[in-house]
Amino acid sequence: MKPFEKILQDNKEWAAREVEADPDYFKRLVELQSPEILWIGCSDSRVPADKITCTQPGEIFVHRNLANMVVHTDVNLLSVLDFAVNQLHVKHVIVCGHYGCGGIKAAMGNQDYKQVLNMWLRNIKDVYHLYQEELNAITNDDKRTDRLVELNVKEQVGHLAQTSIIQRAWKNNNSPHLHGWVYALKDGLIKPVFDMPAGSRIDPLYEFENL
Ligand SMILES: [Zn+2]
Repeated sequence: MKPFEKILQDNKEWAAREVEADPDYFKRLVELQSPEILWIGCSDSRVPADKITCTQPGEIFVHRNLANMVVHTDVNLLSVLDFAVNQLHVKHVIVCGHYGCGGIKAAMGNQDYKQVLNMWLRNIKDVYHLYQEELNAITNDDKRTDRLVELNVKEQVGHLAQTSIIQRAWKNNNSPHLHGWVYALKDGLIKPVFDMPAGSRIDPLYEFENL
């Protein structure tokens, strides 16, 4: 059986099991979506958002990309953020990176990955550049990568706060709370590394007036 055929078969069996355990399971999900959390994670197949958080369908709204980036020109990310904040009224936005992230490692090297990957990785290189003094002082390669994973999450949370979407929501609803987490592949545990409650101060350069 090919991998995609196995997935289709597993899907049938899973749907049947859910209905057997709870006949209204899908009926309820069709009628209502009210997640309180927006998850911005890495596309890495080893970091499935619902599995590592033990959340059920309907509980978290998810966006994933290479190295869990919040790029201010990324229409995809911004659309998800806008919808989650203004339509779903999520209370929390979590940016979750992970140690050993391939995107972070790639950005720390000098290989030419061609466009468009070079373009994407450049955003991570810019985070390294911001913290190069601290990072260059770490002699162990794995530790330096892990530290960049943490600093990258912190920066991406900061990028969220720089959007007019978040600033308007903070002003009008005193929500959502922004979180930066890092997941460890080696033990499955999540470490909170940074957070910004609604109303946190940001660099005035990025503040919008007349929201
Ligand atoms: Zn990753």
